[in-house]
Amino acid sequence: MGEVCVRVAVRIRPLLPKEVLHSHQVCVRVVPDSAQVMLGSDRTFPFDHAFGPSASQGQVYESCVKPLVVSLVEGYNATVFAYGQTGSGKTYTLGGGHIASLPEEQSGIICQVAADLFLLLGERKAVDIRAVAEVRVSYVELYREELRDLLELHTAHKELHIREDERGNTVVVGAREAVISSAEELLGVLEAGNALRHTGPTQMNERSSRSHAIITLQLTQHHHDDGSIRSSKLHLVDLAGSERAARTGNTGTRLKDSVHINTGLLALGNVIRALSDPHRRNHVPYRDAKITRLLRDSLGGSAHTLMLACVSPSHHSVMETLSVLQFASRAR
Ligand code: ADP
Ligand code: MG
Repeated sequence: MGEVCVRVAVRIRPLLPKEVLHSHQVCVRVVPDSAQVMLGSDRTFPFDHAFGPSASQGQVYESCVKPLVVSLVEGYNATVFAYGQTGSGKTYTLGGGHIASLPEEQSGIICQVAADLFLLLGERKAVDIRAVAEVRVSYVELYREELRDLLELHTAHKELHIREDERGNTVVVGAREAVISSAEELLGVLEAGNALRHTGPTQMNERSSRSHAIITLQLTQHHHDDGSIRSSKLHLVDLAGSERAARTGNTGTRLKDSVHINTGLLALGNVIRALSDPHRRNHVPYRDAKITRLLRDSLGGSAHTLMLACVSPSHHSVMETLSVLQFASRAR
């Protein structure tokens, strides 16, 4: 991936059966044989990757996420985040919904990351029998600028803090890290986290549209030849629905949510933009929101970042899709 640290992919999901039933029209397409997306009949947006409704989960993973898993094993930090309006396919693409129970062709990024990570570590071990690798996972939710541990049932309401250690690594103090030794085990742990995420007074969709969910895989590799220890991590982030940002007319709780989501998504956009512009490298505004503080050591520097912008093809969502495409193109 060379010098490029931020890549942007757009995925247009298919019309859903109920949208077909209600005669929704398709208003956004991939320009054939290109990485460009066309909105309506004349507005085009160039990206690093563009996936249309017939793209498979495997295609999305292989072309934009697998390289990050390879670089994770090589010792680099990486972040994948899914951005888009509620219902655009973020959770589907990440595969964070019903992790363990999906048919294989629907299994998303998380399942494929889990499988490939342990495959790659196994290959390392085959070459050097003494190579030792430890994989740990944490899973937190960020709702109204407050962190909640999704792997710790009883301390879910304990306060978590973001700290930077002496080597510049970001750590979430108080978050449980589960040590895992296989893909299945990893998926099981995340499934339990999802169950916790979806309990409580707020309904699943309501809550997941207003909070960010962050899975962090921390890899520590001990190399016996030279005694070195290499640490790297990969974040997989399911962001709050982009329609919550900058929306006017919300009141009460929703207004409060919108303010926080706005802060988070805007801060993320500003950080990504600063990283994409070589002249502004010194002024990356990480501290503006918790989401950017949390991802700090995995955004910029030698880290690889993938923004996966998800959009609905329906003409009913045309304004939201326009704003997502604009946000995503500003990130490049
Ligand atoms: P979000 O997480 O952005 O709110 P979801 O991932 O829940 O959106 O997707 C909304 C609906 O669209 C779900 O029913 C999901 O199964 C479906 N969907 C999303 N992307 C695709 C796709 N690429 N192919 C088929 N169905 C999809
Ligand atoms: Mg979702």
